[in-house]
Amino acid sequence: MYAELHRHLQGSLPRRFLEQRLVELPLQELVSRMPMRLRERYRSCPNVQTFERSGKLSELLVYREFKDFAAAYVTSLFLLDSPQALKSGLQALVEDLLTDKISYVELIVAPREYEMLGINLEQLATILSEASQDSLGKHGLRMEWILEPVRNLGCAAGQELLKMVKNICPNLFCGITLGGDELNYPAHDFKALFDDARDMGLHLTAHAGETDGAQSIWDAIQILQVERIGHGVRAAEDDRLIDYLAAKSIPLELCLSANIALGIYPSFLQHPLKELVQRGVRVSINTDDPTFFKTSLHQEYQILRSLLGPTTSETIIKGSWSQKFANYPTS
Ligand SMILES: [Zn+2]
Repeated sequence: MYAELHRHLQGSLPRRFLEQRLVELPLQELVSRMPMRLRERYRSCPNVQTFERSGKLSELLVYREFKDFAAAYVTSLFLLDSPQALKSGLQALVEDLLTDKISYVELIVAPREYEMLGINLEQLATILSEASQDSLGKHGLRMEWILEPVRNLGCAAGQELLKMVKNICPNLFCGITLGGDELNYPAHDFKALFDDARDMGLHLTAHAGETDGAQSIWDAIQILQVERIGHGVRAAEDDRLIDYLAAKSIPLELCLSANIALGIYPSFLQHPLKELVQRGVRVSINTDDPTFFKTSLHQEYQILRSLLGPTTSETIIKGSWSQKFANYPTS
């Protein structure tokens, strides 16, 4: 059984579930529920034109540029038109996790996104904790949640969100990550948020070294004092950083297909996975947004094996267990 450490809830709602929602919810209605600014951005995406003409989700999952990816993300979000729809999506997600032989997963959740849908933090917390209890009770699958404040909303908004979490659902999340626009909202702006999260007893990770380079990772380590790095793959651009990550045993949450789909590297052969591993950096292999990147953990592990061979791959796959955030009694 496997452990996955970097996977967004919204990017994990299975495609068959989203396609069913598209049958039930007319496209016009879906778009009309988007706030005006978001609707304008959605309409400006090249893949939206072909998607709206055909009504086929597959057209939306073609990314010529980064904003095409954002369009897919927003569409999947607004297909959740009720708390019940989110519950159904979670049930479908559990089926996928079981198919992938996952028995421990840390799912990243951005509560502000669900607020836009009319699902407040209290409702969201109830839905997520019921889903966790259910999956553990019925299937022995442990679903843990990572809180994701978004960089674009600023540090104060993240602190506000954290305060709400403390009041409403202090035990729901096992950790925090920083998501959103890495290039324009640098990690050093979020020190106060991460200080608060540490005081609350949350484990710390941050998306860094994905769209931005090595300095972003240095900032996440030295200023936010994270325990793991989300992606972190661009550490490969800085020799001193590679040595530091290896010496301090700071793991990278790598997502191979995501890096290729978003054009960080042109092909798997040019991906720095091998170099990072050979130089002693601890990594885990994850799916990030499997629906949007048309992958699964099984598929990511196959790619890993093809790049590093079976022995090293098994060590990496087993190693994920030692990097997980949640502590719980094992029987
Ligand atoms: Zn991510």
